[in-house]
Amino acid sequence: LSFWGWGYADRFPDQQSRGALAEQVAALLGFQPLELAEPPAVADIHVPDTRLDIPPEFKAFATDNAINRAAHTYGKSYRDIIRGLSGNFDKAPDLIVFPRDENDVIAVLDWCSREEIAVVPFGGGTSVVGGIECSGRTQDGVVCMDMRGMNKVLAIDEVSQLAHIQAGATGPQIEDELQKSGLTLRHYPQSFEFSTLGGWIATRAGGHFATRYTHIDDLVNSVSMVTPQGEYKTARVPASGAGPDPKALVLGSEGTLGVITDAWMRVRKKPTFRATATVGFENFDDGVAACRDVAQARLYPSNCRLLDKREAMLNQLPSDGKHVLLLGFESAYRAQNGLMNDAMLIAERHGGVAIEGPFFRSEGERAPGSTMANSWKRSFFDAPYLHTSLVSMGVIVDTFETACTWDRFQETHQDIIRSVRAAMQRATGRKGIVTCRFTHVYPDGPAPYYTFLAQATPGQETDQWAEIRWAAADALSRNGATITHHHGVGRLHRPWYEKEVPLTFRNALIATKQSLDPVGILNPGALVDPVS
Ligand SMILES: Cc1cc2nc3c(=O)[nH]c(=O)nc-3n(C[C@H](O)[C@H](O)[C@H](O)COP(=O)(O)OP(=O)(O)OC[C@H]3O[C@@H](n4cnc5c(N)ncnc54)[C@H](O)[C@@H]3O)c2cc1C
Repeated sequence: LSFWGWGYADRFPDQQSRGALAEQVAALLGFQPLELAEPPAVADIHVPDTRLDIPPEFKAFATDNAINRAAHTYGKSYRDIIRGLSGNFDKAPDLIVFPRDENDVIAVLDWCSREEIAVVPFGGGTSVVGGIECSGRTQDGVVCMDMRGMNKVLAIDEVSQLAHIQAGATGPQIEDELQKSGLTLRHYPQSFEFSTLGGWIATRAGGHFATRYTHIDDLVNSVSMVTPQGEYKTARVPASGAGPDPKALVLGSEGTLGVITDAWMRVRKKPTFRATATVGFENFDDGVAACRDVAQARLYPSNCRLLDKREAMLNQLPSDGKHVLLLGFESAYRAQNGLMNDAMLIAERHGGVAIEGPFFRSEGERAPGSTMANSWKRSFFDAPYLHTSLVSMGVIVDTFETACTWDRFQETHQDIIRSVRAAMQRATGRKGIVTCRFTHVYPDGPAPYYTFLAQATPGQETDQWAEIRWAAADALSRNGATITHHHGVGRLHRPWYEKEVPLTFRNALIATKQSLDPVGILNPGALVDPVS
């Protein structure tokens, strides 16, 4: 794995391929010729000396190796990759521990509580909100707890359609194991390849389903967490009306209240009936209205992704300059023709024209489906590799996401686009590009997702990025849209998160933090601090 960028190190393209890509990007986006930066050499990176000795009882599962510490320093946002590319790992944790079981987790938390050492729970390290970087190494030491050694599917209850899975299991590890029983979790965030179940639960990740089961929350039956004050295990029941939900405290806790060790997850039979279609709209607002009607008709498509024409272009969909709606339905039990036909009627009523499909696939059939949907899927999972390449050629490229009610969408969307364009011009002195897609849609509102690209001035990248990113966050906040639909709060979104939630809730969360983690060792700086 790359210690500074996304994914496997050998998938970072060579200089010649990046040169060709840089020319294409500059021509497509109207940027000046782009200069290529080379990835950092291991010999040249800066990792500060560790401040901690590995206790003898942790020797079997801990390391202070410098490259390992560098690889656990940052997440995978634009700012993280810029810092990694520069070889600066000033904020590296002092030790990495790889617990083998719950007992190791308990032992490390006990030691860190006693010695007042910070602990950062780490899943796949794919956070884009500063979730895993310990603010400023202000503690006397920082231990990064990498959960990927606890990566097993422990049990499958086929009768209840539940699977007991350890927190460090990545998307592919989970799916490979469930597939043996014809089951699937069907939670596919774009970071699927490397992110983990514990990370998904800790950040309330958003997955494959564009409607209904959108967040990991919907798939968690029960969860186990270890806190500095002891175990926190929720009841294995399908639903309960017994007071406030203990599970809700774990969802979105971002490593600040405890370490998630395992969960019983709702799994389903792999879908065999599918319907897919691609619809084009001349007018973005018509596509928006179609999505709203599909959501409010409670048709619950698994895919309902509206891409504006720039987003379609960046993803190389041959949409003829139109805005594109990708529609998909799936089931393990029944044909999806009726639901798809209803959705197509709605889209057509709003001026949509079928570009491809609808295609229907029944049990056992291997019909091809929509080529646009397939190429979207490919570009969706390749995008993170492209992102790292773009950063290395001087392009500021980042995303942010939100959700708002339908009545506020138009005004919010326009304000966001205006503010981000103006900030790109201000920060870089040049025009940039901002695109929008809906990742999820609900009966009461969409979850729009924005990508911006601008040309960086060498040496000023992070300041320029911050100016654009803060302008975006301020636009969300003043329009009453959430600071995040699924990326989480971390350190990056914290000021806006604190404005978004009621003060009384914040105080209750601080009291909870104080109760579960009284010394304040867990992920200091993220989400919530204990009473100071
Ligand atoms: C290219 C790219 C695409 C992405 N696409 C999506 C997407 O489609 N949907 C989405 O929701 N997000 C997405 N993300 C964001 C990120 O992948 C998610 O936040 C993901 O859930 C993080 O999982 P992780 O295992 O990598 O956790 P990490 O990044 O390692 O950690 C994230 C947070 O969770 C905490 N944490 C991790 N494991 C545990 C544990 N076992 N116990 C307690 N706390 C823990 C950490 O302390 C940290 O606060 C994307 C990120 C990238 C880089």
